Amino acid sequence: MNAPASFEKRSPVTGEKLADYHITTKAEVDEAVGRARDAFPGWSELPLETRLKKLARVREIVKENGEEYAERISDDTGKPLVDSLMTELLSIPLFIDYYEKQAPKVLSRHKVRNPLVLPGKTSYVGYFPMGVVGVISPWNFPFQLSMIPVLSALIPGNTVVLKPSEVTPGTGEVMREIFEKANLPEGVVQVLQGDGSTGAALCKADVDKLFFTGSVATGRKVMAAAAVKPIPVELELGGKDVFIVCHDADLRRAAKACAWGALINCGQMCISVERILVVDDVYDEFVGLLEKEVRRVTVGGPDEDADIGPMTFRKQIDTVKNHLEDAISHGAKILFGGDQVDREGDFFEPTIVTDVDDTMDIYREETFGPVLPIVRVRDEDEAVRMANDHQYGLSGSVWAGDRKRGLELASRVEAGQVMVNDVVLATGNPVLPFGGVKNSGIGRYHGTEGLLSFVHTKAIMMDRGWFKNEPFWFPYEGKYPHMLEAYHALLDGNLPKALLNIMKLRRMTD
Ligand code: NAD
Repeated sequence: MNAPASFEKRSPVTGEKLADYHITTKAEVDEAVGRARDAFPGWSELPLETRLKKLARVREIVKENGEEYAERISDDTGKPLVDSLMTELLSIPLFIDYYEKQAPKVLSRHKVRNPLVLPGKTSYVGYFPMGVVGVISPWNFPFQLSMIPVLSALIPGNTVVLKPSEVTPGTGEVMREIFEKANLPEGVVQVLQGDGSTGAALCKADVDKLFFTGSVATGRKVMAAAAVKPIPVELELGGKDVFIVCHDADLRRAAKACAWGALINCGQMCISVERILVVDDVYDEFVGLLEKEVRRVTVGGPDEDADIGPMTFRKQIDTVKNHLEDAISHGAKILFGGDQVDREGDFFEPTIVTDVDDTMDIYREETFGPVLPIVRVRDEDEAVRMANDHQYGLSGSVWAGDRKRGLELASRVEAGQVMVNDVVLATGNPVLPFGGVKNSGIGRYHGTEGLLSFVHTKAIMMDRGWFKNEPFWFPYEGKYPHMLEAYHALLDGNLPKALLNIMKLRRMTD
């Protein structure tokens, strides 16, 4: 059977068909990567300041068209306009501002101090771009999860081929337009619409690095493809964030944060609160406050001024239902919600589940829906133990009145990012690195790490011409006793004796 040539996009709000999109074929992917390779010398040889100036145009375009783009992203995903503006669009100008200041410092060649036993040498660390970077992105934050890696790759001089998700192709078109308007040189950044077959073709094409955001299952395939060449690969995968409520937490603030952190974007977020661990002392009070907050959350389409929209990806509803069924069959209770909303579109009720334990799917697997599973724990130590006994380690938060203790607990949670008395927000902070451990992925972006992950590091050592020869060059004859003395002197920390023997060795090299 022939592979389909196109796919259709339907509105997650009304279910109506919005458009058909061409599935970029393997041959077309290879051509695009070829164009990116041709564009690489010209782009990478531009001074960094010139590249930054050209990319600053992206910031202006996002600024000028914020309202239109927010509407288009909301139509594509179903998310509220507030979310499109604040969690998708705003991060781009903020990251460009930050990288304009940081890139010249971070990417410039710099001197590093040598050990004293290496006199007459100067050492530098420098960086150079990798070449063509393939970026593959998901549907839940289709704009920022594409734009930030693309910009982070372009700044140091790479060219980029982006494959956005087939679930949100409308946002792919927004990005294509932005890059066209920015008038970047031909082939520097290309957007290829398509499904998994297009992503797989990009992984096999002649690229020099893969940056992937998506599910663990696909991440494994991407890494396997990268291993064949081999090329560097970065994986930003799933999560199952903990929300640890300590005995002395500000419970009102924690309850509000918990409702928002679990339900924003209808819970379709890698850093969604998905495991709420509450210590026994404050369990009843916290659950009461949380229920009040969740009952206030409104559900509706982008033009209804609601708090949360529909599920962007219809198939996701099955996962939510399956996790709820499994939890109930193993003794969990639905405190609020639990069903699809009785209206057109893919809407699901905000749902609180209590009496959850660590054997249930809703605890062990990523749910990616508007669900708040609550676990009663004895104390903070048990909460940390449970937090770490898990396949994911992306993000999390600790809620504590004693901030010092909160910081200590946060340091013990095995995750790429942990907040104390805050939730979600650290991900939007451009200065902080982002990425996971365990099944949540490999590598970091954002922060200065976000630039360094798209360059190769180069070590340069230069001899200053003080000596005509080196102590360890040939001939070796008669050198061993002095070498042995130098070795022991070095390891004993006797630098003068070590240097004396090295000078003797140097004379013997003549
Ligand atoms: P997905 O893995 O189904 O798809 C992601 C992308 O990979 C899409 O563009 C898809 O077309 C492409 N793809 C599919 N098959 C491919 C293949 N064989 N080779 C190459 N590319 C292929 O994931 P999704 O459903 O779009 O996204 C949801 C997942 O992403 C969740 O698990 C979520 O936690 C994760 N996520 C992680 C982060 C993070 O930063 N860690 C952020 C957002 C989402």
